[in-house]
Amino acid sequence: MTEILDRHPQPALSFLAEDFVPDNFDTINSVMQEMLTAMPSTFDEWRDWVQWRSELDSVVAEEALQRMYASVCKTNDAVLEKAHLDFQTEIMPLVQPIDDLLDRKYLESPFRDALRASGLEVYDKSIELGVKLFRQENVPLNADDEKLSNEYTRIIAAMTVMYKGAEVTLSGMSKHLANPERAVREDAFRLVATRRLQDHAALDGVFDKMVALRHQIAVNAGFDNYRDYMHTAKERFDYTPADCLAFGENVKKYIVPAVRKINEHRRQKLGVDVLRPWDTAVDLDGAAAFEPFTDAAGHVDVAAKLMSAVASDFGDELRWMHSQGLLDLETRPHKGPGGFMDNLEKRRVPVIFANSGTTHGDVETLVHEGGHALNGFFCRDLEPVNYRTPPLEFAEVASMGLEALAMEHLGEVYPENEVQRARRDSLEGMLSTFAWVATIDGFQQWIYTHPQHTSEERTAAWLQLLDDFNTGVDWSGLEQERAAIWHRQLHIFQVPFYYIEYALAQMGAIQLWLNYRQDSATCVADYRKGLSLGGAVGLPQLFEAAGLKFDPRGNAFSEWVPQIVAEWEKTV
Ligand SMILES: [Zn+2]
Repeated sequence: MTEILDRHPQPALSFLAEDFVPDNFDTINSVMQEMLTAMPSTFDEWRDWVQWRSELDSVVAEEALQRMYASVCKTNDAVLEKAHLDFQTEIMPLVQPIDDLLDRKYLESPFRDALRASGLEVYDKSIELGVKLFRQENVPLNADDEKLSNEYTRIIAAMTVMYKGAEVTLSGMSKHLANPERAVREDAFRLVATRRLQDHAALDGVFDKMVALRHQIAVNAGFDNYRDYMHTAKERFDYTPADCLAFGENVKKYIVPAVRKINEHRRQKLGVDVLRPWDTAVDLDGAAAFEPFTDAAGHVDVAAKLMSAVASDFGDELRWMHSQGLLDLETRPHKGPGGFMDNLEKRRVPVIFANSGTTHGDVETLVHEGGHALNGFFCRDLEPVNYRTPPLEFAEVASMGLEALAMEHLGEVYPENEVQRARRDSLEGMLSTFAWVATIDGFQQWIYTHPQHTSEERTAAWLQLLDDFNTGVDWSGLEQERAAIWHRQLHIFQVPFYYIEYALAQMGAIQLWLNYRQDSATCVADYRKGLSLGGAVGLPQLFEAAGLKFDPRGNAFSEWVPQIVAEWEKTV
């Protein structure tokens, strides 16, 4: 037991008292003011200063995460919600301008070159960029954008339909889209689509305001448009908007035909004339979802077995998290939706949140979050704290990649027919992700490079993209619904330009999977190497360390799409 408890001991703090609790602005500010007035005069003293700041950032991040985690676990607890919101909307906005001053102090250090050369190159680059982009006049504009984002949530969350005499949320309707009866699926689809259209004008109006605000934010920061601003702000040092468009062209050439083939197979299997939007989620054999476990302990057990089949310590880490209360997986009333992993930066251990059912999809989610958690464990000793967060384009390689490796071992845990079904779903998901990412990225590029567009022009641009990436689903008679599909993609409203990362990571995950099938030992060793670098090096170096090529244009599609299609054919 001791060995288990000591698996990941909490490192001692060097600058702050162990009982330091950053639960109000004055406490945090007093340390920041000390940092601002400190006069480090040697290289070592500057390294300590960076480390001091990292320590403060770690404990503040842990406080923020604990409050957020507690509130999503119990969304009907007003006290927990207030504690979380106070931290985000009252305390952090006061902290940010002082953070900007600390950034500037670092940049003015006479030892900056030496600091950069001592392993702080990525850290330095990020701080320099933050200072370059910071505009006081954008602070209220960003707050307005945040309010519009809440408006989007409010409109979406209020959507319900009356189904068989009961009020049902739209996510509650999604299971009916997988019903073996086609008429039931169509009925559910039309009910939901009609409800969404009722708020069409409201959502379009919210988005018009967002586009205007975002364009102004970009102009204030000295950019021509918000696309170029965001590309810079998201620290995309290693690929350009043009690379993303070239990726879209490769998707059209290699991915779209493969997804059309998958959809054509689906059409034939279902025995229908044309594939309609309500035909895409149903199981081809009319089988119910496979349920490989019944409770959280069983959930951990199945996911840990799959992870340990890749490398024995992988599953051990998940079991250890479970033993330490770092997993909250079971569904219960008033628990928030979705799933995520984050790191408690003071204890330096990951936590996983999920609102799980009992299906294979929930196993995939836990393995996915388990991959993120491994990343947290493998880079937990890195300093400063910024280096313990890899860029999203690689973070999702850790998670999607582990999902792909675990897929190779389903036969050790599942009955044979379920192995085939799960593999087929995974392979289809890998390919269709690319087509959707290219559509969403292309749309956002158009929106922000045409900031004066009208609602009609925007709709026309969207429909053009849907035609360009048409994967063979027939929307005739549903023209209005088709024109409004993008309203469902919350990223467009709430985290603009966060989308291409999924595709870049999926390309890494697929390469990892192909490597694993060639030489599993080398692949796992490289995976560890990549993850242990956290965010301390750039994207191409992270990919390279993991034995992968960073390929933002998708130039290698021609090599591996046929391999995926061949594997998929074995499952149908
Ligand atoms: Zn993820």
